[in-house]
Amino acid sequence: MVRLFAWAREFIGQGPQSDGRRAEGSHAVFTIGFVPNSEGLGCEAAGVHVDERGFVPGNRHCQTNVPHIYSAGDLSGRLPLSSVAAMQGRKIAEHVMGLTAREHRHLDYDKAASAIFTDPEIADVGVAEAEAFAAGRKLRVTKVPFSANPKALINGDTRGFVKILSDPATGVVLGGSIVGRNAAELISVIAVAVTNNLKVTDIVDSLLVHPALAESLAEAAY
Ligand SMILES: Cc1cc2nc3c(=O)[nH]c(=O)nc-3n(C[C@H](O)[C@H](O)[C@H](O)COP(=O)(O)OP(=O)(O)OC[C@H]3O[C@@H](n4cnc5c(N)ncnc54)[C@H](O)[C@@H]3O)c2cc1C
Repeated sequence: MVRLFAWAREFIGQGPQSDGRRAEGSHAVFTIGFVPNSEGLGCEAAGVHVDERGFVPGNRHCQTNVPHIYSAGDLSGRLPLSSVAAMQGRKIAEHVMGLTAREHRHLDYDKAASAIFTDPEIADVGVAEAEAFAAGRKLRVTKVPFSANPKALINGDTRGFVKILSDPATGVVLGGSIVGRNAAELISVIAVAVTNNLKVTDIVDSLLVHPALAESLAEAAY
């Protein structure tokens, strides 16, 4: 929620520190969390640990404390997203089939992309800028507004921006956020870069379609 407010402030041009301007709107939506429903699943009888909040935690293979019983989805207490639940299922299948470490990559929850389907959409992946700076981490932050994008001009919708966070020493893409039309789609490019430790130059050197909103990704990666 803190990150949502940070994006909203940035989108309306207030930046991280409020300058006193006001944002007008008709609705505010708040989400207040969720409660696991682990009762009646037989966890106790099977000896599976259920934590004090009712979640069934798993290790990096999604194994519970009873190794042949796995935990996936919201019940695992990890990121409550459909994409995460589906990936956990795939990773469990790989582990059950005995795939080797070379063939089986662990799920890294810190690299999960997520989106908020507002208008315009808000999407992000990887390190959170404010938290990283607060922790003293060095980041290169590059940001391009959609007002400079030809497809956005054609669409008549130039709201928002693309921001890419990278390691200033290595150029490895660490994260990014996008506010604007199709942000939930566009964030995929940054998510692939973050998951695979690609560098900003890997995005810059990709020949992309013109005109396309994705061109702003290459510009932001410069
Ligand atoms: C309003 C809303 C919007 C969302 N939007 C998005 C989105 O845009 N993108 C995204 O990635 N995620 C979204 N999510 C989150 C996503 O829906 C969940 O993370 C995902 O459904 C989790 O999958 P799951 O299989 O763990 O649980 P569920 O999909 O909830 O499935 C659990 C199933 O288990 C059954 N069940 C429950 N208790 C028991 C029991 N004791 N015994 C037997 N069966 C039981 C339930 O009936 C249900 O069928 C949204 C969630 C909500 C509530």
